Amino acid sequence: MKRLREFNISLLGKWVWRVMEERESLWNLVLRAKYGEVGGRVRFCDGVGSIWWRHINQIRSDVGMVDSRWMVDNIVRKVGDGCTTLFWEDPWLLEVPLAVSFPRLFDLSIYKAVTVREMFMLGWGVDGGVWRWRRRLFAWEEGLVGECVERLANIVLQVHTDNRWVWKLHSSHCYTVHSAYSYLTTVDINITEDFTQFLWIITVPLKVNIFIWRLFLNRLATKDNLYKRNVLEATNVACTALCGKEEERDHLFFQCDHYGRLWLLISNWLGIATVLSGDLHTHVNQFCALRGFSKNSRIAFTIIWISVLFVIWKDRNRNFFQNHFGHLEALLERVKLQTYWWLKAHYILFTFDYPFWRQHPLRCLQTVL
Ligand SMILES: [Zn+2]
Repeated sequence: MKRLREFNISLLGKWVWRVMEERESLWNLVLRAKYGEVGGRVRFCDGVGSIWWRHINQIRSDVGMVDSRWMVDNIVRKVGDGCTTLFWEDPWLLEVPLAVSFPRLFDLSIYKAVTVREMFMLGWGVDGGVWRWRRRLFAWEEGLVGECVERLANIVLQVHTDNRWVWKLHSSHCYTVHSAYSYLTTVDINITEDFTQFLWIITVPLKVNIFIWRLFLNRLATKDNLYKRNVLEATNVACTALCGKEEERDHLFFQCDHYGRLWLLISNWLGIATVLSGDLHTHVNQFCALRGFSKNSRIAFTIIWISVLFVIWKDRNRNFFQNHFGHLEALLERVKLQTYWWLKAHYILFTFDYPFWRQHPLRCLQTVL
């Protein structure tokens, strides 16, 4: 489990990146409505909001990281028209934010959460309107202003050109979990850990990635966890599937008399006879290696594995909140359909129609393995 921390950091980094880059997406608009915005972007703010959002903010500000500033040090802001780039706080001029290069000026400036565009319009020449302070400057502070003016002297904004982030660790200039993970584990990269296979599952939806991440950290709202957080009484922790046992992660997904049997149906459907472990880490290793250890085979089986877990979790929630109990055969069908779309999104060669996939999953998988 020694790489878990690095992996989680890399995965969270992806979400930080998406929060920063995907400004037009619906979920980004939701975040902006909820947490406010600055310079047309979501306002990052430590210590508020959901656990997920707080983690995202910790990664963004590198709080408590092994390698502090790993994220900030590896991104720069490429300025276009300057409209969505923060003058003081984004690393756009010399790879370091001006607020870091000139902390005293940042502290004294009356313009803090302003964009490069706004500052440009105010004028950043020697007598520009940008240089307004909370008090009169000392002589040595005037010297700092001179330095700052000098740095800004040759900057020309590109009108009608978007501002964007550049991730320095990948040739595409976009953040990849793998490049971040490699960076965080620079020496001795050992691609045999449980979690490394999930590095590649970027085609399953974001909410599913979040689900899997919480699953591995045992942070899902299973009844034992709700009990630990004083949300449920000790008398209310019985498994939602009414099997009579206590509901905790390994039980719910792998050992339960009800949901556990879904794995049997899945094995039958795949035409593979096997006995699977009741423990998360052993289970994932067993299942994902069912057709060998090649990278493609592991990815395909990991997608199926995630699909089963997600279907169980959604059904458990329907049962928990709405008292609606799904029949196992219906869950099996849901896994087939959901996996079909995920595989189709992941593999160009996966061109089968749905009825054929339902009937011959292994034959379909063989063409992509
Ligand atoms: Zn159960």
